[in-house]
Amino acid sequence: MGKLNNKFPGKDVSNDDLKNKFPLCAKKYKTHKSKFKVAGIEFGGKTIPIFAGPNLAESRSLVFKTAKEIKKIGIHFMRAGAFKPLTFPYRSKKYYETREEGIKWLREASNFYKLPIISEIMEEKFLPLFCENVDILQIGSRNMQNYPLLTACAKTMKPIMLKRHYGSSIRDLLGAAEYILCEGNKKVLLCERGVVAPHTHRATSRFLLDLQAIPALKEITHLPIIVDPSHATFWSDWVESMALASIAAGADGVMLEVHPNPKKAAVDPLQPINFPQLKSLVKKMDNVAKVLFKKRVL
Ligand code: PEP
Ligand code: MN
Repeated sequence: MGKLNNKFPGKDVSNDDLKNKFPLCAKKYKTHKSKFKVAGIEFGGKTIPIFAGPNLAESRSLVFKTAKEIKKIGIHFMRAGAFKPLTFPYRSKKYYETREEGIKWLREASNFYKLPIISEIMEEKFLPLFCENVDILQIGSRNMQNYPLLTACAKTMKPIMLKRHYGSSIRDLLGAAEYILCEGNKKVLLCERGVVAPHTHRATSRFLLDLQAIPALKEITHLPIIVDPSHATFWSDWVESMALASIAAGADGVMLEVHPNPKKAAVDPLQPINFPQLKSLVKKMDNVAKVLFKKRVL
């Protein structure tokens, strides 16, 4: 077997990976960092963009109410799923999708409140709908290694946020991102959203936020790193500390679940914070960014 020239002893990314497996993800030089704009908002620059919104675009009124409130707070992008990957196949009345209709509500609210949209795409056949109505295509953790989907999304040249699968290594994540970059699509965001670990703190903590992934990724890739503490903690009381820690660890963006009445959320009701909590959190994140990095959130 050939000797692996590994500059990172004990880590799973080798120099060979950087040169031959994901050269487009790899930094060209120490300070190389991707900067690009989506709907006029810059990633990798002086402002750290925040995404917020409900898990599911439950209704037109929820989408409009959320857009109105988060716009007031200064949030940069609205998130909401209309096509939802659910861990179990039985869709009760509680677990529904709003599909094409949900995407249209998002677009309408986006136009009205001037708030760009990110939403998850699960199947290539919906690309025309998404390309017309959504500003960033979200590829969910479960589809991180769905290579035909990655390639099809990449070819549209739409900005893409790729969520790390909760069981995948950083090497696998970068391999997946390379599938997008090698189609010539440079607008790629990576998202850390929690990993599965044998140890969790209580039954509701399904995932463990891998904050170390932020500095680890920054050593080897120029792509902006977004953190989703809502999915990672699965527990709204822990979102604030993990969001602040994400900023402190150097995140280039944060995705937060918010709902006017979290307990009534159709999907994952333990996870969203409410609007006053979001407002206070964003202010604190802004302070952390300012003090540590001379960057802003607001
Ligand atoms: C989501 O962001 O709505 C979502 C389903 O996230 P994940 O793919 O990380 O579970
Ligand atoms: Mn979820």
